[in-house]
Amino acid sequence: MRETVTPTHCPYCALQCGMNLTPAPDGRAVEVSERADFPVNRGALCGKGRTAPAVLSSSVRLTSPLVRSEGGALAPASWEEALERVAEGLGRTRAEHGADAVGVFGGGGLTNEKAYSLGKFARVVLGTSQIDYNGRFCMSSAAAAGGRAFGLDRGLPFPLEDIPRTGCVILVGSNPAETMPPSLRYFTELRENGGTLIVVDPRRTRTAEQADLHLAPRPGTDLALALGLLHLIVAEGRTDEAYIRERTSGWEEARAAAMAHWPEYVERITGVPVPRLREAVRLFCAPEAAMVLTARGPEQQSKGTDTVGAWINLCLATGRAGRPLSGYGCLTGQGNGQGGREHGQKADQLPGYRKLTDPAARAHVAGVWGVDPDALPGPGRSAYELLDALGTDIRALLLMGSNPVVSAPRAAHVEERIRSLDFLAVCDVVLSETAALADVVLPVTQWAEETGTTTNLEGRVLLRRRAITPPRGVRSDLEVMHELAARLGGEGSPEKGFPTDPEEVFEELRRASAGGPADYSGITYRRLAEESGVFWPCPAPGDPTGGVHPGTPRLFLDRFATEDGRARFAPVSHRAAAEEPDAEYPVLLTTGRVVAQYQSGAQTRRVDELNAAAPGPFVELHPRLAERLGAAEGDPVAVVSRRGRAVAPARITAAIRPDTVFMPFHWAGEGRANTLTNPALDPTSRMPEFKVCAVRVEAVRPVRAARSVPAVVRPAVSPA
Ligand code: SF4
Repeated sequence: MRETVTPTHCPYCALQCGMNLTPAPDGRAVEVSERADFPVNRGALCGKGRTAPAVLSSSVRLTSPLVRSEGGALAPASWEEALERVAEGLGRTRAEHGADAVGVFGGGGLTNEKAYSLGKFARVVLGTSQIDYNGRFCMSSAAAAGGRAFGLDRGLPFPLEDIPRTGCVILVGSNPAETMPPSLRYFTELRENGGTLIVVDPRRTRTAEQADLHLAPRPGTDLALALGLLHLIVAEGRTDEAYIRERTSGWEEARAAAMAHWPEYVERITGVPVPRLREAVRLFCAPEAAMVLTARGPEQQSKGTDTVGAWINLCLATGRAGRPLSGYGCLTGQGNGQGGREHGQKADQLPGYRKLTDPAARAHVAGVWGVDPDALPGPGRSAYELLDALGTDIRALLLMGSNPVVSAPRAAHVEERIRSLDFLAVCDVVLSETAALADVVLPVTQWAEETGTTTNLEGRVLLRRRAITPPRGVRSDLEVMHELAARLGGEGSPEKGFPTDPEEVFEELRRASAGGPADYSGITYRRLAEESGVFWPCPAPGDPTGGVHPGTPRLFLDRFATEDGRARFAPVSHRAAAEEPDAEYPVLLTTGRVVAQYQSGAQTRRVDELNAAAPGPFVELHPRLAERLGAAEGDPVAVVSRRGRAVAPARITAAIRPDTVFMPFHWAGEGRANTLTNPALDPTSRMPEFKVCAVRVEAVRPVRAARSVPAVVRPAVSPA
């Protein structure tokens, strides 16, 4: 018998690695094998992707709806009863308190079809403006800065395959060795080809270990670092004046701001010695082509948009944007972090990356949806602001593909807000910490059980294919929206606007996105099945006999997407983080990920192999800090911020600055890192400041006699 092989993509991060799935012989749902023909990962997978099928057949998988009884417990219920309860809960809130009292919270892991349908469902069926998603926590500052500079936001404006062929890459606040390991080969190949890698990170991460130059600024100061580098670029006469003149605007203001940031001043702010700043400038400016790539480090700050803008300024001042093998890009985090921010689940957005405030965009999308443009609500609150309003302005919430009890900043407060809701419905595959608080939990299908598209960090639209039949008792998110539309949508057959077939949804998405910045109208499931993805924008041919648009792997080569075609410098200056250390909270906390867990851990914490590799939270701290506390490797230490207290074992390493501690954020309970984090928002992107807050660190056990602490596992961070 011939084996059925289904080529598809990993359910986790934005690399969207290709993999093949085959039926497993031994009770597991499917087996993963190498898919060497997919160019992004060429068969390589990290442990998360390799073990992803374990969640499909996990014993904790939800296979029946759960409804909370009068007594307060969640108990299995029929789909009919559960859907009725959801419709009743959302409908009653809408009737009693108005449409905006109902909130919708989506996720950056939802397929394009689900994200599109969720935005439509919120605005057309519920009539609420209160929709946003957890992608706001992930890369919205880069999106805002990219939009401001280039007139268009796409994570990478070039394919990953360009990285090994450029001359230098500055990787800012990114640790792909742990977050997306198969991508590391692009940087390895860059160095093998004679290029150089500069890593900017307060920790000497596994990625930083491979760099030619590692700059370790104090958390929250990389805006100043970028300004210091630009100052040196100007002072050393390394700007590309012809490029600045012909392809940019706003240089004089940006230049003046940078010139106020003397290298010695920048050294005092960042802790990065001036000779290292000079070395970075030399490495970045020497080759003809270079790139700057950012990730959550510079983005998750209360000045994230300006920080990313400052790094983009480096590219613009040196003529390294909109040219072959050069440019600025953002390494998006979540599986569909890119597509999820393009098609309408964002508070201010309509499909095709259109703006909800644009009358022409409203008219176009309303036409596709068959509704009056005036009936579409305006922009709503951003993710944290939405969560903060739960239980007050927002009384009921429909949540899909997110676990904010673990992943939101100031998580204890967010949890308390969620508990205060009149009604909460959650669609998930397992009983996440947030689902456990719901009035109704709807068990939904997962990646290998459903077909749909995602858009990876390169802007490459991909087809995930259904490989196996879902368990009995489980339905897709699209079916849930279809059923709820029938119950909540009023006259006619509103559910017809919410097809359950993903390809049918995609066909509508194509029409809704046509002519928008993220134009998918030339992309079809058939093309995606035959090609290794298609890069947007990909408009449909203008004339009936026209050929097929090839897609757009590389953006901005002729002009930027601004009105005048010029890239815009950001006139930015250093400012402090929202919280600076003081006598009570003298240490900085930064948060991030580890290789064996993914985001809030809702899926990966259910996989034995991953739990064995990364069983729980920890506090990474420098030996000098550990010695002051009298803490040894593995001792529990408490990290206390103005928002709460978390306790986790000490992991002692000289790979972190002595003034900083690090916690991964994948876990709930006592070691929940987000209990501590600061929800201070970037004024433009409304992204919270996950990456820096002031804390104090305490030994939990009685303090031992001070002693030297071993366990230095990685080389020291230099500018301590
Ligand atoms: Fe999946 Fe990302 Fe790992 Fe690739 S790198 S296998 S997409 S988690």
